[in-house]
Amino acid sequence: MPRPIPGPFDAARNGPQPGPRGTGARLTEVRCAVCGTESRQARFRPFPPEGAPDLDLRPGEPLRSTMASWLQQCPHCSYVAPEIAHAHPAAIEAVGTAPFRALIVDTAHPPLARRFLGYAYVLEETGALHAAAEATLQAAWAADDARKPDLARAWRGDAVALWRAGPPLDAEQTVRVVDALRRAEAFEDAGVTAEQLAASQPPEAVAGVIALELRLIALRDSGRHTVASALPPPARRPHATHGSIAKRSQGGGWWDRLRRLWRRDR
Ligand SMILES: [Zn+2]
Repeated sequence: MPRPIPGPFDAARNGPQPGPRGTGARLTEVRCAVCGTESRQARFRPFPPEGAPDLDLRPGEPLRSTMASWLQQCPHCSYVAPEIAHAHPAAIEAVGTAPFRALIVDTAHPPLARRFLGYAYVLEETGALHAAAEATLQAAWAADDARKPDLARAWRGDAVALWRAGPPLDAEQTVRVVDALRRAEAFEDAGVTAEQLAASQPPEAVAGVIALELRLIALRDSGRHTVASALPPPARRPHATHGSIAKRSQGGGWWDRLRRLWRRDR
């Protein structure tokens, strides 16, 4: 099975990992599961970011700037995955197809984005539509960094289509759909989706982020914002002490996980 791309939740789950700070990567000899070619690859080990994540959960710095290390790519067949030593049978087939080759060699796209799009294609072919959506969103992040707003908007739209084509989305994932739509300037769809989610009596944390999204949508603001803007100010949590805030006053759940994504409360 293709492993998921290390994302903010993985960093939260796995805790601090050894490895050079800023990359978390070490070079090892890896055998490609698709073509058998050996190459030296860095195995990325996520570490908890210090800055707040964006509303679409793109991690804060320093993890934010390590995207170039999140995927390995075979120098021979171009198979791309977090660990190319593993491949789903459908992935092996996907790497040989014309659409995969076309994505990998498309010089109109930033090189880092091509890798994420290639991985998204492989995931889509294995039927992992939500994981494919995640990889496509990451291509959009790479386009953001490369200052390609048109590509970033298009890939956010593609990510939303993949999310919606997959199994039903929970409230947390729907927030990310809303953010992707807003940042793609699909304000009407973003507004309708946000209103539906707000009307479904979501958990407090989700309601807080959705309230912020609705304000941004009303302002036609397609910019980047972090979850720190949606968090209740510390003054509103009088009983909280360091390390216990999320557990006691927010009832766990999303805030709890979000807070572990950066060091605000530590
Ligand atoms: Zn290969």
